[in-house]
Amino acid sequence: MQTTLTTENSTAVLYCTKGGEHSGERIQMICTHPLCRTDALCCVICKSRTHKHHETVLLKTFLEEMSWKTRHSQRKTGDVIQKEVEQAERMCLEAVVGIKRYTMQKLVRLEEKMKIAE
Ligand SMILES: [Zn+2]
Ligand SMILES: [Zn+2]
Repeated sequence: MQTTLTTENSTAVLYCTKGGEHSGERIQMICTHPLCRTDALCCVICKSRTHKHHETVLLKTFLEEMSWKTRHSQRKTGDVIQKEVEQAERMCLEAVVGIKRYTMQKLVRLEEKMKIAE
């Protein structure tokens, strides 16, 4: 099975939306803390503030692991694959939820800007 996730395409355009000292900071990590499921994307500032004591994985590493697991999962058997695939899918979904939220925020901001301009 081929995965379409590539580190270059998915990280290049993601910037933190929190503004202030976050502006211009690239999203580099995903927080794996249960409380951060809907706000899992972190820049270095987020990491040092909101997610200080949380466990994070580098976005790059996360995506690489994901494609590695997909490629190598056929070597293992039964339950192990099942569990790993389920876990990978869940993490992937959570990341996608975060990215969707990010895009929505961006759109809302754009709309606000357009309203001001009118
Ligand atoms: Zn940030
Ligand atoms: Zn966190």
